[in-house]
Amino acid sequence: FLDLVEPQGVMGSVLYLDVPNDLTRDMLEQRLRLPVTEALVENAVDIAQFKIVVNLELEHEEPLPDVIDDPAADPVVPPVATYERDPGEKNQRRVDSRLNPKYTFDNFVIGGSNRFAHAAALAVAETPAKAYNPLFIYGDSGLGKTHLLHAIGHYAEGMYPGIRVRYVSSEEFTNDFINSIANNLNQSFQQRYREVDVLLIDDIQFLRGKESTQEAFFHTFNTLHDHNKQVVITSDVAPKHLQGFEDRMVSRFEWGLITDVTAPDLETRIAILRKKAEAERIQIPPEVLSVIADKVQSNIRELEGTLIRVTAFASLNRLPVTMELAQTVLKDLFSFDEEAPVSPSDIISHTANYFKLTVDDLHGSSRSQTIALARQIAMYLCREMTSMSLPKIGQLFGNRDHTTVMYANKKIEKLMQERRSVYTQVTELTARIRQRAGA
Ligand code: ADP
Ligand code: MG
Repeated sequence: FLDLVEPQGVMGSVLYLDVPNDLTRDMLEQRLRLPVTEALVENAVDIAQFKIVVNLELEHEEPLPDVIDDPAADPVVPPVATYERDPGEKNQRRVDSRLNPKYTFDNFVIGGSNRFAHAAALAVAETPAKAYNPLFIYGDSGLGKTHLLHAIGHYAEGMYPGIRVRYVSSEEFTNDFINSIANNLNQSFQQRYREVDVLLIDDIQFLRGKESTQEAFFHTFNTLHDHNKQVVITSDVAPKHLQGFEDRMVSRFEWGLITDVTAPDLETRIAILRKKAEAERIQIPPEVLSVIADKVQSNIRELEGTLIRVTAFASLNRLPVTMELAQTVLKDLFSFDEEAPVSPSDIISHTANYFKLTVDDLHGSSRSQTIALARQIAMYLCREMTSMSLPKIGQLFGNRDHTTVMYANKKIEKLMQERRSVYTQVTELTARIRQRAGA
């Protein structure tokens, strides 16, 4: 399928690849995002990320109909809305929805802590702008809000060919807005966010106190809502507890449905671990899943991270995952006060120290192997030990893109299973950081 991919050029630090259809895009996303990013990084190419754009012109002489015109063809769930485009629009580039293929409804485990949020998300995905608009999902970090947002996007895309979905974190929205002012690109900014059918905006609490960005979002929201387009918003607190927001914004958030996600109960935690183990094809006895689920109670990201540590340790030592082995790893991981808050500057200074580097090395742009690995480990630990979002971590490390952070996470997860040195480094560093934080 690589024959179908055409590089379109580089804009800023982004490489654009054109593909003829969604299938090719999804294949690229799933199979090639990591290796390509890795190749770019390793060849010191100054490209921070690449974007895949579906360009219908590439494959079809005739414009494809974007509209499902035969509802009878799918008697089970007839589409309730069609997403018609002006004829001229059909050949235009499709919006890059920026969805992470890992986060779907299929691999979202439902339990008491998220049942309502899941049902609301599914309803919105099935009938955008018809069920609840906006849908507002709130809850603490690591409880599945971002996962649900992406799942809505995937589902709607599968259900309504031609639908324009866009996921954006509030940090990216802010940066995009600031850039658009600086570069006089207000029109393309507006297009990007107003000419969509479903806007998924993550971590809205980040707009706190940012008056002009809030203003821009207010107009975006109104335009979308007036045109019967779906908006889904997530936040760490309920609308009425959002601080530094104008009343008119908060009241709009309350127009639709507000729902929360809470910490999962033991059974749900075990089910999540089981699903993750299945997805990663990890053989692991049920009692080990229980002991991990028992240890990590209030953050699903950390729950998954702990499972990875246990299986990494086993695979490095070529040992089966037994209860004993799990206990050893858990003891290393949790010998300090887990509740003590860890700050990103703790992580960065300890990592620099550990690798005999300077803090500036980690913030900087050197691609020397040692520095790059140390930087990726620090990013991984920030993701694991703090509640910072991917874009925020990226910012911290010399304004890197969130996809770079995502890539670092994947890479360290993988290296921990393959290289003893990396496993040991990550484990020792975690202990040092925890020790310091607890002191
Ligand atoms: P939040 O956005 O609320 O901070 P995320 O959506 O990033 O949380 O979730 C953190 C991790 O936990 C992700 O890897 C996600 O896939 C996983 N996760 C969260 N909830 C569930 C669930 N109900 N089922 C399966 N995985 C989940
Ligand atoms: Mg999130």
